[in-house]
Amino acid sequence: MSNTRAHVYVTRRLTPAAMTRLSELDAPVVVHPDPERPPTRRELLESVRGAVALVPLLTERVDAELLDAAGEQLRVVANVAVGYDNVDLAETARRGIAVTNTPGVLDEATADLAFGLLLAAARRIVEADRFLRTGRPWAWAPTMFTGLDVSAGATLGIVGLGRIGMAVARRAHAFRMRILATGRRASSPEAADLGVVAATLDEVLERSDVISLHCPLTPQTHHLVGPAELARMKSTALLVNTARGPVVDEAALVDALRSGSIAGAALDVFEDEPQLHPGLRELDNVVIVPHIGSAGAATRDAMGLLAVDNVAAVLAGRPPLTPVEP
Ligand code: NAP
Repeated sequence: MSNTRAHVYVTRRLTPAAMTRLSELDAPVVVHPDPERPPTRRELLESVRGAVALVPLLTERVDAELLDAAGEQLRVVANVAVGYDNVDLAETARRGIAVTNTPGVLDEATADLAFGLLLAAARRIVEADRFLRTGRPWAWAPTMFTGLDVSAGATLGIVGLGRIGMAVARRAHAFRMRILATGRRASSPEAADLGVVAATLDEVLERSDVISLHCPLTPQTHHLVGPAELARMKSTALLVNTARGPVVDEAALVDALRSGSIAGAALDVFEDEPQLHPGLRELDNVVIVPHIGSAGAATRDAMGLLAVDNVAAVLAGRPPLTPVEP
């Protein structure tokens, strides 16, 4: 790239509102031209060269190689996501590059999806939809597609009662669920108001009818739910994952769903996105959606706008609005 002025490189076309805000930046903006797919690694390494700011999505790995390719003038990486497991924070810190994320603006949308998945799995909505589309004869029957009674005192276990976990707890409280949760906020007055009981991971695994994951992906949470944890869950329990795919050992999950060691799962995220573990697609007791947790239209606007505002702040010499602290 033969820039006379360093550019802002955006790895994917954002929503129209965010694109307009990008055009107001005091720097040239280069957007990956294909709206249908992320840039290849090669395209990424080429396009980032000479950039003063990078606006990646969670599909882009921001590591030493990419930062080297960008060059010393790079000042900010404004991730369009609250999770930042795709960014090597040690490398950005070492180079003095600011990293920002989009906390808070996607809590309600992601909690809506998590709760929608919970209900879909509990009441077998997708399975019943698939059945009806076969055209097979049917009549109302007492045992047809029976599932978990969510509002009759079922226990929800929240792993990671942070911003999104708390938004899920508010929904569960309205559904009169019992709520167990891990994380520091599980002992807060706000949690107590929702009837949340602080618990260890083992207690959540053993006592919950539905477990919903809301922790970040870190080296500590990689495969947090593996064969041993799945074995601790009730055979009637359901697992909902809207956190990050690698938090769950997907091969072990497929085994557990196949053998009936747990009753079902609902997944927005996958260990090797966009690939699914062999066999997962074929299972009837799993609901799968393609990482749409934050996909509310207004939420996607807010995420893009916040990312662009973070770039604007750094380029203007102000502190970023939502910095990620290494
Ligand atoms: P947050 O407010 O930082 O909350 C994270 C929670 O995870 C906190 O309760 C934290 O506990 C807990 N936690 C941290 N490390 C843990 C560990 N090693 N083991 C168990 N729990 C741990 O984050 P958030 O904004 O709610 O977002 C949570 C995650 O959701 C993001 O990191 C992202 O990966 C995912 N997400 C997915 C989508 C989607 O589209 N599916 C959308 C948005 C976010 P403490 O408070 O005790 O530290």
